[in-house]
Amino acid sequence: MNIYNDSQQIATENLIVGKKVYGEKLIILNKNFKDKDIRDKDFKNENIEDLEKKIEYRVWNPKRSKLAAALLNGLKSVEINENSKILYLGASTGTTVSHISDIAKNGLIYAVEFSPTVMRKLVRLSKIRKNIAPILGNATKPKRYLNLLEEVDLVYCDVAQPNQAKLFMDNVNLFLKENFKAILMLKAKSIDVSLKPQKIFKEVEKELKSKGFKVIEKVKLEPYEKDHLCFVVEKNF
Ligand code: SAM
Repeated sequence: MNIYNDSQQIATENLIVGKKVYGEKLIILNKNFKDKDIRDKDFKNENIEDLEKKIEYRVWNPKRSKLAAALLNGLKSVEINENSKILYLGASTGTTVSHISDIAKNGLIYAVEFSPTVMRKLVRLSKIRKNIAPILGNATKPKRYLNLLEEVDLVYCDVAQPNQAKLFMDNVNLFLKENFKAILMLKAKSIDVSLKPQKIFKEVEKELKSKGFKVIEKVKLEPYEKDHLCFVVEKNF
């Protein structure tokens, strides 16, 4: 995965130079990687020739994105490349989607979200970032968007709902290519606040396995997110 990693933080190369998505910091490196310039503001009126000598990265905030948290905690089995096609369930306003859009710059992210309110921001983002296809839809009813999608290289699910494991498996069964991976960002408290997270993680793992999914990797998201587990699975079709 093409990400900048300087041991304290990770960042993705900005697909749309000069534009932030959620107030993240920008790091500008000269192409010889000697100088580093961290900016809190968008930069405007910069000389084009100067910009061409530079690479701009967007710092990927692990407190705002569970995928960044998982990567900083050692997630290693998932590869997103510049041509990857991804089905993203629970896209919200596009914080994590935007970083995947930086990585899969020639690919496509089908970003499913069911709240029209947050969808507006996602649609605005997709006008600037052409590799995001926003879909106003309910991930519990994947057949309704069947004709809008193709088979994908990765299914990513972050919906924080009681039925998250089931809707994740239904989407994987319909849209994931054979022998490719899927990520479930499981929030224990959304399933049952009264049960210990560890018990919920075990039950979900059992459910995944009983439906023919192979668990490849599990990564906790602490200290960035409490009571969450990132599952990476493969489906044996
Ligand atoms: N993944 C986002 C990110 O990292 O930028 C944050 C996602 S937030 C935890 C969960 C999102 O899932 C919310 O925006 C919510 O509206 C959406 N959601 C919940 N249930 C859904 C469903 N059944 N179908 C589609 N979206 C859903």
